[in-house]
Amino acid sequence: MTNILDFVIGIDIGGTNTVLGAVNRDGELLVEQSLPTWAHEEPEKLVARIYENIEGLRRELTVARQLRGIGIGAPNGNYYRGTVENPPNLSWKGVIDIVGLFRKYYQVPIAVTNDANAAALGELLFGLAKGMKDFIVITLGTGVGSGIVANGQLVYGVDGFAGEIGHTIYDPEGRQCGCGRKGCLETYASAGGICRTVFELLSERKEPSELHRYSFEELTAEVIAEAAKRGDPIALEAFEFTGKVLGFKLADSVAHTSPEAIILHGGLANAGNLIFAPTKKHLEENLLPIFRNRIKLLPSGVTGGSPAVLGASALIWKEMEQHA
Ligand SMILES: [Zn+2]
Repeated sequence: MTNILDFVIGIDIGGTNTVLGAVNRDGELLVEQSLPTWAHEEPEKLVARIYENIEGLRRELTVARQLRGIGIGAPNGNYYRGTVENPPNLSWKGVIDIVGLFRKYYQVPIAVTNDANAAALGELLFGLAKGMKDFIVITLGTGVGSGIVANGQLVYGVDGFAGEIGHTIYDPEGRQCGCGRKGCLETYASAGGICRTVFELLSERKEPSELHRYSFEELTAEVIAEAAKRGDPIALEAFEFTGKVLGFKLADSVAHTSPEAIILHGGLANAGNLIFAPTKKHLEENLLPIFRNRIKLLPSGVTGGSPAVLGASALIWKEMEQHA
């Protein structure tokens, strides 16, 4: 049985920063810290620095609490093998036994999964998906990730890599993707994807746009969202097109697992109705009739801390529930 004073460490390993926090069973973040990932460094060194930070966090806890486990969200994290495998945005090569590296310091349950799966578990335990058995979380960030929950369980697939909706293909003749293929959803609906859309529109259109003054290096999804809020026609059309592609592909995802809801996370989702309205419209237009007018399209309901850290902690809380 878990105790009110128990806590889990949730860790979100990103390409730039690693964030970790102590989280209780109610999804309350007790303390949080951030450290630079230094992506070129060996994973052993990062884990050693994370260990120092965890011990620092434990000293900050005002009452004696028991550490019940460590949950890690990382790019290409593999839950089955406890590994991080050829992660994008980190220079780690091959298969890294990340759980094994943490085992040198801790003897509590330790598990890893990819960041989108962690986000889905966060929604299931602490967010809008409480009580739902079937839903999908889509992370619209540097890439497009997805965590699929079906029949109350995260879908891992035979090898732990299930849920790559970001690399399902929208247009086989479309944009070059980092995975080596063409036209993946990620090349349109990621932060970089909407920037590519803006530059395509700027080269085709004559109408004035404040986005003309940005170079490709300077343009960000936030800049486009701000311009759209001021009524910039190119920015508005870029959001419309992004929502069209996303809604179209999500209609396919609905056919696979018949979810109750789709929850959008990440930078682009913060643009609110700019992305939600066109996504909803094109989702509905492309759904099989039996699914129409019943799929909820929602923003994240995980609050009070980094959804990625809370989600990583949920990985351990969920395991403890299952073994109780
Ligand atoms: Zn791809």
